[in-house]
Amino acid sequence: MKIKERYDVIVAGGGVAGVAAAVASARLGADTLLIERYGFLGGLGTAGLVNPFMSSYTSDGKPLIGGFYIELCERMRDLGGFKQRAFDPEAMKFACQEMALESGTHLLLHSIITGARMAGKEIAGVEVLTKSGTKNIDAKILIDCTGDADVAAMAHADYEFGDLANGLAQAMTLMFTIGNVDVRKSLIYAKENPEEMRFPKPASDEAVDRMMEGAVGIAGFFTKVEQAREIGEFPLDQDLVFYISLPTPG
Ligand SMILES: Cc1cc2nc3c(=O)[nH]c(=O)nc-3n(C[C@H](O)[C@H](O)[C@H](O)COP(=O)(O)OP(=O)(O)OC[C@H]3O[C@@H](n4cnc5c(N)ncnc54)[C@H](O)[C@@H]3O)c2cc1C
Repeated sequence: MKIKERYDVIVAGGGVAGVAAAVASARLGADTLLIERYGFLGGLGTAGLVNPFMSSYTSDGKPLIGGFYIELCERMRDLGGFKQRAFDPEAMKFACQEMALESGTHLLLHSIITGARMAGKEIAGVEVLTKSGTKNIDAKILIDCTGDADVAAMAHADYEFGDLANGLAQAMTLMFTIGNVDVRKSLIYAKENPEEMRFPKPASDEAVDRMMEGAVGIAGFFTKVEQAREIGEFPLDQDLVFYISLPTPG
């Protein structure tokens, strides 16, 4: 695809916010370019494996978020990659790209925005390092969805970093995926050893069955963690193991 020198809208960053912004913009008829440094969309949900989506329902089950979010979840469900709030990152990559392309959004992947092009005090466009070299691309409107307001900072806009008291950023979580986990067996262990668990503490086999229908979050195994620590197999300063099941069995 040939990248033009000018668009109506440039969206910087292809995480869920960027995909939502680009899809909405293109569906309204604006000539829209979405620029993403990785070779796929989804941001922390795909590149960072952040999972599951935080709860977005009232306690009596009414949805608090609609629109793009519901559409994305339904597309991932159709791919067999969505269960309750947990999603398969590969399904998210596919669904985000499908939504972007169907909307008519132009995608520029493997491309990092390195600078903001200014016209006086306004952002006129961006400098982008692509596989074909550096390009200047302008737009009437630029939407910064880099997750960290990077383009706004490049344009010398005022910004704040971290918590205002100490300037500390949010603590990191290193997410990773493991397979061949018998989730039902873990829940049965939790049912039989509730004192070993932070959560859940299923009261019956029926409760285990109900939990298996959704995405399961399990935290605890206190004695096993302690035993592992004693033989040098658990060096972390934690008293529990916490994992969340994905839609793919095991
Ligand atoms: C440690 C941690 C744990 C979290 N846990 C959860 C959780 O359990 N559940 C939950 O729902 N949310 C969680 N969140 C929040 C969730 O990750 C964010 O709300 C969500 O990712 C925000 O989406 P976004 O599209 O705004 O940004 P991001 O997902 O950060 O996407 C930004 C995109 O912009 C791209 N980009 C950045 N700079 C440039 C550049 N210069 N040029 C080109 N591309 C660029 C990046 O590659 C990325 O794809 C967590 C966040 C963190 C940090």
